[in-house]
Amino acid sequence: MAWYPGAVKMELQPESDAQAAIRPTQFIIHSIVAPWTARRTYEYWRDSTNLESHFAVDYEGTIGQYIGTHTRADANAGANRRADGTGAVSAETASNLSATDPWNDKQLEDLIALGVWLHEEEGIPLRICRTHDDPGFGYHSMFPQWSTGGTSCPGRARIRQFREVVFPAIVARATGKTQPTEEDDVALTTAEIDQIATATAKKTLQIDGVIENPNPATAGENSHIALTTAVRNIETIGRRTEAKVAALTEANNKLIDTVAQLAAGLGDLDPATIVAELRAAIESIDVHITTDLPEA
Ligand SMILES: [Zn+2]
Repeated sequence: MAWYPGAVKMELQPESDAQAAIRPTQFIIHSIVAPWTARRTYEYWRDSTNLESHFAVDYEGTIGQYIGTHTRADANAGANRRADGTGAVSAETASNLSATDPWNDKQLEDLIALGVWLHEEEGIPLRICRTHDDPGFGYHSMFPQWSTGGTSCPGRARIRQFREVVFPAIVARATGKTQPTEEDDVALTTAEIDQIATATAKKTLQIDGVIENPNPATAGENSHIALTTAVRNIETIGRRTEAKVAALTEANNKLIDTVAQLAAGLGDLDPATIVAELRAAIESIDVHITTDLPEA
């Protein structure tokens, strides 16, 4: 059993000796729906109920500890002790009577320091629990398995503080970084840099930039045109050129056939010579077509 040096020890008996041992893997934070001191909370556990938490954090900056962290405490239903012997360490925190107020600065500091100690002393990993039995840090209403009839504990304001203040501060202090440095902000992996570069390139192509008109035939009229217009023009020219080349090739082939038939009827001409000369002429026509593009 372990006792937090930063807490006032108020051991609950017979629970402390009687309840089963646990291997603590989680830290679950609550609001007690009362503005009680750590001492008053101890009296409540001792005199009025058979439930209890390991810790209580009051408004004045005192932490009370009632049960050692290697013994089951009964504040989180199914997370108190699981079949495999693991369980959650629990902390109640003083609140107003409707559990709507945020933690004050003393409570925040106490929760952060306690969280760091639980990480260092018990090896609770520096992450927010991903499932009800996942080792890490959490708050009472995070998973239904942690309460018997559902709960909104520790209240909306404190859930937000847990995510935005308490847990990040535990991680920062436990890893020796009280504040993220500028270096951390720009320390990207190669994969992250590639991802950003790809996203930036896509973004650039999505934006329709205005470029200098690359077509000398129309540049005098429009010195600048939209990139999409230029691309559309190039595609139109390509399609028209293909169609013209196909039509001309077909016409030329018909011409060759016709001339070959004529030559066959004229006994004194060599048909092969005529065809070869026509083919050479047609090839030069092809070259002529590709260098004389139609206007877009
Ligand atoms: Zn609770």
